[in-house]
Amino acid sequence: MTSLDEFARSKLGEAEARALKRSLAETAHAPGQRVLRGGRNFVSFCANDYLGLAQHPALKAAAKRAVDEYGAGAGASRLVTGNHPLYAELEAKLAALKQTEAALVFGSGYLANVGVVPALVGAGDLILADELAHACLISGARLSGARVVLFRHNDVDDLRANLAHERSAARHCLVLTEGVFSMDGDLAPLGEIARVALAHRAWLMTDDAHGFGVVGNGRGSATQWNVTPDLQMGTLSKAVGSYGGYVCASRAVVELLVTRARSLIYATALPAPTIAAAIAGVDIIASDTALCAKPLAHARAFARAAGLPVPASSIVPLLLGSPDAALAASRLLEDEGFLVVAIRPPTVPEGTARLRFSFAADHAMEDILRLAEIVRTHILARRAA
Ligand SMILES: *Cc1c(COP(=O)(O)O)cnc(C)c1O
Repeated sequence: MTSLDEFARSKLGEAEARALKRSLAETAHAPGQRVLRGGRNFVSFCANDYLGLAQHPALKAAAKRAVDEYGAGAGASRLVTGNHPLYAELEAKLAALKQTEAALVFGSGYLANVGVVPALVGAGDLILADELAHACLISGARLSGARVVLFRHNDVDDLRANLAHERSAARHCLVLTEGVFSMDGDLAPLGEIARVALAHRAWLMTDDAHGFGVVGNGRGSATQWNVTPDLQMGTLSKAVGSYGGYVCASRAVVELLVTRARSLIYATALPAPTIAAAIAGVDIIASDTALCAKPLAHARAFARAAGLPVPASSIVPLLLGSPDAALAASRLLEDEGFLVVAIRPPTVPEGTARLRFSFAADHAMEDILRLAEIVRTHILARRAA
């Protein structure tokens, strides 16, 4: 038997040999998507802080007020003594914005997905998930014990065929997809997906981590497509600028989740300053649609200047194939003062390692255009050669 250390070293060696080892880099953030890493300043094009709200004075002030008034930590789960009054305010604002009866806030988006899915389906049920659905949706699906079938990415015909084949053998069926796909930036065709799900008596849950604050006037993918999924999940950690996750649904569904979602019941509530900052962020999203339009406008300006296809969201992928090629491109941009993360398997399928550019409202147009020029002349020209 090998020791745990030997095991770890051998696994790390394998990952390193395939350019798949991951490591943490200390990074300090400043307003305007500026970051300090390794003693150097960069403009970051890899944050999900799409509206720049993580550095917004209103969010900082709300968090400061709350920490002074209520303290740093929640001390218990929401079901014990952690259900701070700020939760009700945040949930009412989320439900109003999503036009649902109710909303429920979780400790994070990840915790929302691994809590919600197993609370609603289990053995004897069927989950149909887009093959590119986020890791935590898949974790929730696997935890549930339901049969999990992946349908081809954004392929409504494949979803329909799977439903025709599998639906009748299952008691309940849940369709899982993202509003805006996190690594490709494309939108799920939610209008058609909602119709197909309804026709097969399947429930629909959307993960709108990258849609809220950005598409549909900032209200998210469901507004963009004018549909009402049974469950609209999202995060407070991206465009909202704070931390936490949520799901918007009917009153009855939310009450059932309070009774059954293990990641809500057995995890400590969010700290009050985090909830207070999220409220301030949601208020800005609700009132400032011009701000919410900027990330997409910036992504489009970049793509136009770089000669890339017109993006549908604030996320622009540039597929480079091998992990080595993606890392080399990322390093090239780093030398120019831009932080753009290389995304490698297993986050994306084998052979589709890429740069993932994400655009925010507070990027300077000058930086966007300089980045586009370097991408066009140094990365795209080489890729074509
Ligand atoms: C980031 C993300 C999550 C997780 O949200 P957190 O609040 O960061 O835990 C879930 N789904 C998708 C699609 C994401 O991109």
